[in-house]
Parts: sequence; structure tokens; C-alpha cells
Amino acid sequence: MRVVFVGPPGAGKGTQAENIVRDYGLYHLSTGDALRAAVKAQTPIGIKADEYMKAGALVPDEVVIGVVVDALEGEQAKSGCLLDGFPRTIPQAEALDKILAEKNAPLDVVLELSVPDEELFKRLASRGRADDNPEVIKQRLVAYHGQTEPLVGYYTKSGILRKIDGLGTVEEIYDRIKTVLDEYK
Ligand code: AMP
Repeated sequence: MRVVFVGPPGAGKGTQAENIVRDYGLYHLSTGDALRAAVKAQTPIGIKADEYMKAGALVPDEVVIGVVVDALEGEQAKSGCLLDGFPRTIPQAEALDKILAEKNAPLDVVLELSVPDEELFKRLASRGRADDNPEVIKQRLVAYHGQTEPLVGYYTKSGILRKIDGLGTVEEIYDRIKTVLDEYK
């Protein structure tokens, strides 16, 4: 099963992604985690990504797509994957479709975790990550609405978008996710 997880920063994607990969045996690819690791290790990609991440802006498509191509080449991704935080732009979604078409392994489903902005702001402000200060949070929400939300239309058109209500307890939200994913097992 190949799943994309879309949702604004603070929607709870990371927590739910851990539940999903544990229970469905999927390879977890979080481009945010991969980029943070690259920044920490000061690799050429990390050095390039750092300034964008600090500003709450998206890292350029070609940089992130390179990270994903490498990760999907690995053995672990063969039995299925959860892409968490990728794609985040239409060009990234088009690149992903191309990569997966070459492998004859198209996406099964795109989960959109939906949470209103007021609630996101509250959750992010209490999280304490380096890019969680109010100004950067605002920028990350602007980037989400401007660049990432158009993916909802893109995947609705391809008929694989499923919307998940992201309000409630972690358990309630995960139950909603499982109900959808069990259709694709
Ligand atoms: P996340 O952990 O998914 O919230 O990502 C943290 C930051 O990493 C984002 O604010 C972006 O700067 C960068 N990032 C992660 N994934 C992507 C992506 N697919 N495209 C562009 N930038 C990304």
C-alpha cells in the first residue's frame, strides 16, 4: 500500500504516521525528518535547506524531490510506504506520479488531515520546535494554504483523496484513519 499523508503543520501527522507505519508495516518517509537530519549533519542538502526551514518556507522542489527519489530506491520502500509531508507542491506531486509510474507502483490513497487554523496555532505554539515560534508558524501556514492545499484538488481529480477530520483525541482520529486504510489493505 502506498499512502500520502497531507495536512497543515500541527495537524498531528507525525503522531498518526507512527501509528500507521507500526500497524500497516509501511516504510515511513517524512521529508521534514529527513531534512532536519541533513541540517544536523550539515550535508550539502542540509546546508541548502536550513535557511528555508528557519524562515518557515518550503525547501525548493528539486532539493526535496532528490531526497525522495533516493529514499524510494531503498529496499524498505518496496512493501509499501507512507509519505508524510511530501508532496507539498503540485510540481512535487507530478514528480512523484512520474517516479511511481516508472516503478509500476501508483499511489493507493491520499489522506488529508484537516484541522482549522485557530486550533493549529494553539497546538504549534505549545510544541517548542525551533520552527514553532509565532512568526515562523504564520509563514508555515501561509505556505500550506498557498502551495500545499492545491494538492487537495489535484488528488480529488485523480479520485484518491480521502478527508479525515483532525479534531478529537489521538485515538479518535486514528480510528477514522484505520477505517479508511482498511479499505485498501
Ligand atoms: P515538517 O516536519 O513536515 O513540518 O517540515 C518542516 C519543514 O521542512 C517545512 O517547514 C519545510 O521547510 C521543510 N519541508 C519538509 N517537507 C518538505 C517538502 N515536501 N517540500 C518543501 N519543504 C519541505
